[in-house]
Amino acid sequence: MRLMSGLVALSSLALLASGCSAFSDDTKADGKTTVAAAFYPLAYVSDRVTEGTGTDVQLLTQPGAEPHDLELTVKETAELASADLVVYESGFQPAVDDAVEQNAGGATLDATKVVDPLPFDESAEEHEEHAGEEGHDEEHDHDHGELDPHFWQDPLRMADLGDAVADKLAGVDADHAERYRSNAAALRTDLEALDAEYTAGLGACTRDTIVVSHDAFGYLEKYGLHVASIVGLTPDAEPTGATLGKLKELIRTEGITTVFSEPLKPALGENFAKDLGLRNGVLDPIEGLTDATADEDYLTLMRTNLEAIVAANGCR
Ligand SMILES: [Zn+2]
Repeated sequence: MRLMSGLVALSSLALLASGCSAFSDDTKADGKTTVAAAFYPLAYVSDRVTEGTGTDVQLLTQPGAEPHDLELTVKETAELASADLVVYESGFQPAVDDAVEQNAGGATLDATKVVDPLPFDESAEEHEEHAGEEGHDEEHDHDHGELDPHFWQDPLRMADLGDAVADKLAGVDADHAERYRSNAAALRTDLEALDAEYTAGLGACTRDTIVVSHDAFGYLEKYGLHVASIVGLTPDAEPTGATLGKLKELIRTEGITTVFSEPLKPALGENFAKDLGLRNGVLDPIEGLTDATADEDYLTLMRTNLEAIVAANGCR
């Protein structure tokens, strides 16, 4: 246990919670495999992959909480420390990154390593309209700038994560390896169907631009959508006057009818829609469930989002 000696307080907690299982082969002293999933879409994938195996999935971001600025409680840190597998996304939740580095005693899976995240470059977004060239140099883009963390808006990237979760779990709980893999295959089938619905649903639209609160929908651009956001990648940012002015111009030239707000931060989109006399729709970034969406899941929320875009953009 000397490996953890630098973090006496937290590692002691971890040991209490895990029955001193960290780094040993016998990680399931209590007979139960556990997964700690950092936020809802990761928990959804983990739940699906572990179905019928008795494996316990713990969600570290509680319903209604904003995952971007998550702080871990002592209990959640202990869950993360003792989990046989932690599924997280580096760069999205700094508190989780720190806890993984300092406390994780089992296997870890960083989603960014398996979902091929898209680069996010605000200045590129602003200038791309008159660039008019498809052949941009993606490899070069990856060398600098921020990655867009919201990969779960692409069902096929979720399917890749499902396969990776199954592979990792097969390594820590070989008894259920086959079930993990067949669950991941079933999940992929559902996600490919969802992807096909998006492709068909957004294939012929009167408008191809959506205006949203925070920039959580960039991955939908694969379906031919353009996404303009009131604030940037994080929901807590304040809109600038320059951005609002440009959005108003875009809304006018594109004939946009609807401004989308999001369930955890509705005021931003609502106020902007009201100011401009536009409809206010709801598009859920699906970063977490709320009281209002407690009975929903990733698939139903994605389908509700698709319906909302189809209605706003005149797709048929
Ligand atoms: Zn976000």
